[in-house]
Amino acid sequence: MIRLEPGVAGKIRKEGEAAYPNECCGFLLGEAAGGGAGLEGGAKTASCIIAVDNRRMTSEQYHRFVILPEDFLKAEKEAARRDLDITGIYHSHPDCPPLPSEYDREHALPFYSYLIVSVNKGKADEIKSWILRDDRTSFEEEQICQ
Ligand SMILES: [Zn+2]
Repeated sequence: MIRLEPGVAGKIRKEGEAAYPNECCGFLLGEAAGGGAGLEGGAKTASCIIAVDNRRMTSEQYHRFVILPEDFLKAEKEAARRDLDITGIYHSHPDCPPLPSEYDREHALPFYSYLIVSVNKGKADEIKSWILRDDRTSFEEEQICQ
């Protein structure tokens, strides 16, 4: 489960609408689940976002976001400065449901929450969160709590 602090979902929706008809992407910063596996203490959080330029300026940009290593570094530094962790990565699916694509799975890393916002005709719609299974064969839907 990932807990979105107030305003986070709204910011992701806004990013998705601003980038339409292209994809937006960025990082979620918050607190990683603490040691225990308990539902309460163990929940990940996202308290703010860092937007990333979508670097792949081709026709494939519609459905393929790219995060470069230097984006990761910058986000990690920013997270450390705020005493937070990178807990996930968000991106938008213009005119597509918020389900991870094959490309998303191939480029995903374990642990992170993958938030996908569907943007239909320029208007942000549903948000879903996904976690890569340990064997990397597929994603499992993660509960979002706001
Ligand atoms: Zn995607």
